Order: sequence, then structure tokens, then C-alpha cells
Amino acid sequence: MGRAVGHQQGDGSRVSGDRPTPGLKPATRLARAGRARRFTQGVVNPPVYHASTCTFETLAEFDARRADPDSGLFYGRRGTPTLWALEEALTSLQEQAEGTRLFPSGVAAIAGAFLSVVRPGDHVLLADSVYEPTRAMAKGLLERLGAEPEYYDPRIGGDVAALFRKNTRAVYMESPGSLTFEVQDVPAICAAAQDAGITTIADNTWASPLLFPALDRGVDIEIQSLTKFVVGHSDVLMGSLTARKSHWPRVKAMALRLGQTVGPDDAYLTLRGLRTLDSRLKRHGESALHIARELARHSAVARVLCPGLDGDPGHELWQRDFAGYSSLFSIELAGGSRSDLAAMVDRLELFSMGFSFGGYESLVLPVDPGELRTATEFRAAGPILRIHIGMEDPGDLLEDLIAGLDRFARQAGLAT
Ligand SMILES: *Cc1c(COP(=O)(O)O)cnc(C)c1O
Repeated sequence: MGRAVGHQQGDGSRVSGDRPTPGLKPATRLARAGRARRFTQGVVNPPVYHASTCTFETLAEFDARRADPDSGLFYGRRGTPTLWALEEALTSLQEQAEGTRLFPSGVAAIAGAFLSVVRPGDHVLLADSVYEPTRAMAKGLLERLGAEPEYYDPRIGGDVAALFRKNTRAVYMESPGSLTFEVQDVPAICAAAQDAGITTIADNTWASPLLFPALDRGVDIEIQSLTKFVVGHSDVLMGSLTARKSHWPRVKAMALRLGQTVGPDDAYLTLRGLRTLDSRLKRHGESALHIARELARHSAVARVLCPGLDGDPGHELWQRDFAGYSSLFSIELAGGSRSDLAAMVDRLELFSMGFSFGGYESLVLPVDPGELRTATEFRAAGPILRIHIGMEDPGDLLEDLIAGLDRFARQAGLAT
């Protein structure tokens, strides 16, 4: 049960507490998270507060709130119960999480993480497999701030310590890697960084805390593009930073300094998405693994980049660290040109082409990971297609992809 609250807290006080009992399984937590009475006023879901101005009835109330702005409603930029409920819900998914702040997109959250941690003169290590806009930000933001980004092999593990310098401030991870799905040894990297007093930041969008509780595995600051699996319906952009106690004050202060906040309708939709995250991820994961396994047998597929499959270089680490698979993997085609690829993707019936993933609908995305790399090489026999497996029937999806691969193979002159 949530703590009983009296009238005084009917103002939506954001004091902590009301976290789900430790030990509850993720599906149970998701149903209870962020539903303290001070957020909901007793209905099941928190009301959608449209607010910039909050008002104070007396000078005494005003002075008390000024002295402790987190004790209740203050000004819209500091949030309302709608936003606090979502923040509290995300925080409650990991034992080591102290707090969460929302950002208007995942990319905004990445910027918030860098700005919370990095100072001029700092050296920052980033996995060579990071999301492309992260790389663009390392150049466009970190370098401009006078920091020095350096890329490392995502499979480096604890040997990352060999790259540490006196001025290394942070190690940035994303596991599995964007587009290519290398699994990082996050616990080993975090242990090495912690010994050296270096902050660890991880983009955990692929897994969400349900499949990989990043903070509980040693990460200091977790980034999520909630846009993807948490929202789940391709209709909201939102990001979050969740931090452990040692890093929470900086993250919280920087989010406020930057004026980062989100709209209440978007927060409401994101919280609604969160409720079904466990069952959606199970569906995505089961279908994705089934389809990836089947595609690996097609002669037009040179390689499936999917750590959930036996034989993938990341399979053992994935099995050790992850509670399940999500929706996303890539296939490398066996030769063929851009127009051969068009023969496949232009006539897919159940897959749209588009960026993003995590929605209920299936997507394909032609990608070129090789041209992004700087620390490692990525060579491919033919075009690479990233595939997001949605919530449709997996048999229907597989049939559509196989028909597409057959068209590709015929046009490219590959034997099927
Ligand atoms: C999509 C994505 C982001 C950015 O999220 P937006 O909400 O689209 O800004 C960041 N990291 C990863 C891994 C992503 O897939």
C-alpha cells in the first residue's frame, strides 16, 4: 500500500517515498509505479495538470516553498504531479536509482547527461557503436566545450582501463550498440571506471531497465529515449536521465538550469505506455528472436546481427546480463546493390521504412554502420537492414520478409 496521506499532501508534494516494495517483479512494479495518492488524488492515474503558474495562499506558504522548492508545487518548469508520477515510476524500477528527470527527447537527455558531467579539458570515452546523433553531439557539443571525445572498441570490457588518462571524466556506453548490436561488458567497464573515479553513462534505450537495470549493474547515469519502448506507440518524443545517489544532485541541478521539461499530455501518454512495457517487451523479444533465427537460414542473408542468437559474438554476455531480447536486430545481405535492396523494401507490406523503433508497428531501416566508425572497422558483404519487430503476428511478418528477401535475391542474381 502507498503511504496514507493527509490533506497537507494533497498539493502534490514530491517528497520521496511510496516506492514499490523491493523484490517485486517488474510487471508488478509497472502496475503500481508512480501511483502514490499525492500524485493521483485517489483516482487510478495521475490527472493531467496543465500548468505554468502555481499560486500560494499566504506569505507563510510562499516563504516555506521558497525555502524548499521540492516540497510541492512551485512553478511549472519544476513540474507537476503528472510529471513527478512518471519520474517516480521510472526511478522505482531500479534499486540503485535515486531520481529521474524528464527531457523533451532522448537526444536532449544525452545532452543533459554530458552537461551534468563534462567540463572543459576533460577526456571522454565513447563506444564506437554509439547512436549516430550521440557521435554528432560529441563533436558539436563536447569539442566546442573544450573536451576531448575518444572512441573505443565496444567489446573492450575491463581493458578500457588502459585508455584512462588523468583527465578522463566519463565512459559512455550503449549496449547493445546502435545498428550493429555489440554487447558491452557493462559491469566490467563500470568496475574499472569506479576504481579510477570516472563517471559511467549508459544509453539504455534498447533494453530499458526491464531487460537491463543499468544502475543496478554499476552505471552512474542512465539515459533512455522513452520515445521508443516506454511510449510504445510512436506518438511521443521524450527522454529521461536516471541517476544513482552520487550523481543525482548534478543531474537534477543541470536539468533545472537548462530549463528542460515536458508537456503534461506527453508525460501522461508515456506513463500509460509504461504500464504495458513488460508484456510488450516479451512479445517483441519472442517474435524478434524467432524471426531473426529464421532469416539467418535464408541464402540472401550473409549474417544476422542479433546477440540473442547462439553463435553471435555477444551471445554469452547477453545471456549473462539481460533478462530478455527486445525488438531490434540487423541483417547483412549477401552482396547486391541499392536497387536490389529497393526490390526488397519497396514492396514490403507489413513493414514501413522509418527511423525509430519500440512502437507496436514493424519497421525496417537501411543503415550504413561502416561509414560512422573511427576506432573499429565494420565490413559488410552487402546492404545492412535494421529491423524492428512490432506486435503483429510473427508468422505474417516472417512471410513478408522472406518474400522480400526472395525478390532481393532474384534481382541481385543470388541463388535462393
Ligand atoms: C532514438 C534513440 C535516441 C534518441 O531519442 P529521441 O527521443 O528520438 O531523441 C537515443 N539513443 C538511442 C539508442 C536511440 O535509439
